[in-house]
This record gives sequence, structure tokens and C-alpha cells, in this order.
Amino acid sequence: MQPRDLSDHVAYEAGRGIEEVARELDRDPSEFIKLASNENPHGPSPAAAVAIRETASSVSSYPKAAHADLTTAVAGRWNVTDDQVWLANGGDGAIDYLHRTTLDPDDAVLVPTPGFAYYGMSSRFHHGDVREYELSKADDFTQEADAVLEAYDGERVIWVTSPHNPTGSTMPLAEIERLADETDEETLIAVDEAYGEFADGESAIALLDGWDEFEARDDVAVLRTFSKAYGLAGVRLGYAVVPDEWADAYARVNTPFAASELACRAGLAAIDDEEHVVRTVETTRESRAYMRDDIDAHVWESQGNFVLVDVGDASAVAAEMQERGVIVRDCSSFGLPGCVRITCGTEDETERAVETLNDVLDDLDVEPESAGEPENPDAEVADP
Ligand SMILES: *Cc1c(COP(=O)(O)O)cnc(C)c1O
Repeated sequence: MQPRDLSDHVAYEAGRGIEEVARELDRDPSEFIKLASNENPHGPSPAAAVAIRETASSVSSYPKAAHADLTTAVAGRWNVTDDQVWLANGGDGAIDYLHRTTLDPDDAVLVPTPGFAYYGMSSRFHHGDVREYELSKADDFTQEADAVLEAYDGERVIWVTSPHNPTGSTMPLAEIERLADETDEETLIAVDEAYGEFADGESAIALLDGWDEFEARDDVAVLRTFSKAYGLAGVRLGYAVVPDEWADAYARVNTPFAASELACRAGLAAIDDEEHVVRTVETTRESRAYMRDDIDAHVWESQGNFVLVDVGDASAVAAEMQERGVIVRDCSSFGLPGCVRITCGTEDETERAVETLNDVLDDLDVEPESAGEPENPDAEVADP
């Protein structure tokens, strides 16, 4: 027999790993740094690493208590009820849960382009269609309700990525609220805050739970993950925060025990280790500012733990940087063949990335296509 028709389904293209690249180029892994997958340069919280070791001998049990405890801890963090917190196997698992909860066959989701590939993949797994709204490069990928509403045609779910991967732009809460107000009652605004910890503004949980000036509402859900700021990408842990009204749905849609015992124990330790997150966010801010000031090409303002750089020919620049030991993300697969995305690293990693990129730009003599003024006039003078 054959699988069903999967011709609409595309494989997820992950950032490339050091081992993989070193093997392919027949080089030593220690020659490389990887700034391609928005991972935490400080690793996991040390407390989470301890928790994982301590949990090793009890992994023969299904995760029940740990799941309940982490749900309560996350609910406490956001001041929502336990029922509103849907733990999942990574943020990606939470995307699946939101689709399982909302999509009937042939319903559609509206997703940003450029954007995160898994929204569309997951929708197709659930027999949904995928339509796109554009974040325009000419507008610096600004996110406003109007551009989304223009593309909107009654889709069941609208995905808003804020901060947005790979551009780093955000949608203000007032715009998200307007989007929710001006779309059908049965349209969910799913706000993906995988990079929320690195951003200045408040979480969109404010909208669904009715904090400050907002009215509580039942058509917004928020996605968060432990993969980025918490440094736990390898254990796979994320969650959705959903409206009160959805309390009963989780038990009907979740994959049993998808958030593993190791993941839940690591998450519990990590959520208590505020110092590690604070340090991570600080490093990120410094790296982001340094890259914006010192890269000799246009760098968009970013609220994530990465920056998008207009290099002209992303595949040539990424390949040459890789040759010189710095792995960055070629954004061609995001629909931005002129751009690379560089993850914020430690101070040393960031300096090496900037120096390597500037040398490569010089040596390849590529012309970035966007006309934008360089962020830092000095950079241009310093490097004729
Ligand atoms: C990384 C990321 C996620 C979630 O990743 P997980 O590792 O599955 O938690 C979700 N959305 C965006 C935009 C991301 O970049």
C-alpha cells in the first residue's frame, strides 16, 4: 500500500547542526559555532539539567504528578486557571492542539508569509487548508491588523507570530484586539509568542484574560515554549494558554503524556530559575544591539533572539559563512532569498559572527537589494 496523497505536505527545514555540517565538510566540529536555530547560547537552566538527571531513574512511570504540577506553576506564572494551560510536546505540539480543537475538514487557517512553516504543515495534517497574508519587506515587515484583514476570508484560525520569526517584528496588542474584533466570532486569533520573553511589550494573554484596559474574550489563544528563552529545545515542551470557555476541550484533544516526565520536571525547575532567563534576555539584548550597530548591511529591528539581515544573496553568504565556521540560517526557505537570520549568541559568538559576515560581504561583493539606509552611518565609513 501507499501513504495517502502527501504531495501538499512539505518537509520542515530545520537549521543545520554543527555535527551535520562538520561531517559534510570533513572538518572538526570545534571549528564551528551555530547561530541558526534560535537556541539559548547559555544552554538550559542548570537547575533543569539537575532535574533531568534526578528524574532519570523514575522514567518508567507515566508523567501524571509532574504534568499537574507544571500546569499549576505555569497557570500561576500567568495568573490564569489550570484549565487554561495546555501543556504540549513543544510549541509545535500546542499548534496541533489548537488545530485539533478548531478545524473541521476543509476549514482554513490564515498564516503569515514569510513565516513559520509548521502552522501550514499542522493544518494540513488536520485536513485544513492554508492561506497566506503578507508581511511586506518594503514596509519593514510591520504587523498591523489591516493587512491581515485585507487577506482574511472567514478562515477559522489566524496565526499571528509576535515577535515574528524570521523578521523580529511584533504586532501591538491593540492591533491584535482589533483583528479579533473585526473577524468572525468563530475565528480564533492564535498568537505565537515563542519569543515573548525577549520582547518589550506585554503578552497577549492580557487580551484573552481581560487585564488592564482589555475585555476578556474567547477568541484569542497564546502559544509559548520552553525551547527558546528557557533553553530546553531538546526536551520538547511548550503550551497554549486558552480562553476559560475551552476548559473541557484539552482532555479531548491532547495526545496522552505528550509532555514527557523529563520535560515536565525540567520545566518545573526552569520556571523557578528566573536568574537564567534574565541573563539570557540580557545577553540577547546586547547581541541584538551589537549586530544592528556593527553589521555592514541592513539589519531589521528585532524583538526576538535573532536578527534578520539583508545580504543580497542568502545562499551564497550563508554557504561562505559556514565555510568560515559560522552557521546561520539562509532564509530562502522562508521566502526571503536575500536574507539570513542570525541567532543572538554569547558576546564572543556575536563578535565572531559579525566579523565573519562583514568579511564575507566584502569578499563576495554582493549588493543587498533593499535600499534602506545603514543603521549605523559609522559602520559604512569604517568599511569602505
Ligand atoms: C521555535 C518556534 C516555535 C516552537 O518551537 P518548539 O521547539 O516546538 O517549542 C513556535 N513558533 C515559532 C515561530 C518558533 O520560532
